[in-house]
Amino acid sequence: MSESATVFKNLIAGEWTASVSGKTFRNINPADTRDVIGHFQASTPDDAQAALGAASAAFAKWRRTSVSARAKIVNKAADWLEANADAFALELTREEGKPLAQSRDEILRSAQVLRFYAVEAQTFTGETFPSDDPDQLVYTQREPLGVVTVITPWNFPISIPARKIAPALMAGNTVVFKPSSDAPLIGYRLAEAFVQAGIPAGVINYITGRASDIGAAITEPPVVRAVSFTGSTAAGEHIHRSVPITTRTQMELGGKNPLIVMEDADLDRAVDLAVKGGLSLSGQACTGTSRILVMETVREAFTARLLERVKSLKIGSGVTPGMDLGPLANRKQLDTVLGYVASGKEQATHLTGGDQLTGDGFEHGYYVSPAVFTNVPENARIYREEIFGPVLAIVSVTSFEDAMRKANDTEYGLSAAIATSNPRYMHRFADEIESGTVKINRTTTGNVVNAPFGGLKRSSTSTFRESGRAGLEFYTQIKTVYRGL
Ligand code: NAD
Repeated sequence: MSESATVFKNLIAGEWTASVSGKTFRNINPADTRDVIGHFQASTPDDAQAALGAASAAFAKWRRTSVSARAKIVNKAADWLEANADAFALELTREEGKPLAQSRDEILRSAQVLRFYAVEAQTFTGETFPSDDPDQLVYTQREPLGVVTVITPWNFPISIPARKIAPALMAGNTVVFKPSSDAPLIGYRLAEAFVQAGIPAGVINYITGRASDIGAAITEPPVVRAVSFTGSTAAGEHIHRSVPITTRTQMELGGKNPLIVMEDADLDRAVDLAVKGGLSLSGQACTGTSRILVMETVREAFTARLLERVKSLKIGSGVTPGMDLGPLANRKQLDTVLGYVASGKEQATHLTGGDQLTGDGFEHGYYVSPAVFTNVPENARIYREEIFGPVLAIVSVTSFEDAMRKANDTEYGLSAAIATSNPRYMHRFADEIESGTVKINRTTTGNVVNAPFGGLKRSSTSTFRESGRAGLEFYTQIKTVYRGL
């Protein structure tokens, strides 16, 4: 079998294990579908049960392992990711499509996340409380939950798993991790990093397969004390409703993120925010800008500069240096984006792009040119629904109040941005926007490791934030202790 057809196995109880199904599925390169990256296990509920059993068996010892010993392992895993960053970046780009430099950044950022939690968890404790009884000490202690399931999408296929798995492990939980079938290899490398670092058998388990085959089996058994999920709103809401009441959930879901451009904004900068926020990763970021709400007085000038910039973007394989946009991640993404472009052409004014690219090296990949629409009515599908592709909808607004009403007129609330030089707008925007991430003169995309991340409304469950210290809260439960003499 050639290198490109390597069979990758599940990690269960410390052993690389084939599925009992005896079947695998292919992981292909979205820039060139003839390139098979590898075959991954088409797991069954029996495999899932084995993974949960292994995690459950490993918990008693792992929760008693000192936090500094856990940190040593997590730091070693980070070392391994950093040492292999170039090779892993190439694998990530091959399976997901994003430009190589972004893949490398993502691997290094994931190592940084591991290091952050290796330190942060060492000072994550309970509190003490004043008591009227001088002989009594009242305090809380935090303890791990037990077995937790981590389910992740393909668009950030290592940084999202890293920011879920690192706090889970550092808090003393054991993990069953299921990556997306569109980018399972880099998740495999993350599991391998922990194995290389000497993590005890069963503390992290990695299992691949279709959600319809193993989704319920890794989320619904009561042994699963928490599910941390990032993906579509439909899937996240389904899981949230299906799990037992004793299972905590943290669901990071879809978005329809606005960028407001006020009359006093630096227009070149605003264009930069729109292009970087809306089109990097070919528009496939949950926090990607998709609605641009522009003050009528500057709309023409803004639109002209935006079009010029969009038309200059370079599209091509992520391994070719200097490309701005890679392919979409899979066939379904391509069909969805082309469907939205067609509906945009019926309901709004089409300005550029939205074409599937063929020929000239594009013929075997899922390439589409970035699209811009204007005069987008408020009932248009491209105005209301998450597209998850390189499609920008420009909408006129007549005042700050009009912009805020439109920005908030969505079922989502993940990220929102404003371009302005007026401090009063900045302040009111942060105050009035219904969004978990608020950006002022910054792209809707991007978040830092050490601050909480999550959405409002149907973009997240109203439970726990991830990232930063908040990420550790999700993975721990509190006991209140009254200690008398
Ligand atoms: P998806 O919901 O199809 O799949 C995400 C993951 O969930 C995959 O691993 C999939 O196999 C699994 N899954 C799907 N249904 C399941 C079920 N019933 N039970 C268990 N597992 C199940 O999403 P996708 O296409 O991989 O990713 C795109 C979506 O993810 C977009 O909606 C995007 O907005 C969202 N996303 C959100 C964030 C965030 O932080 N809020 C970040 C990235 C992506």
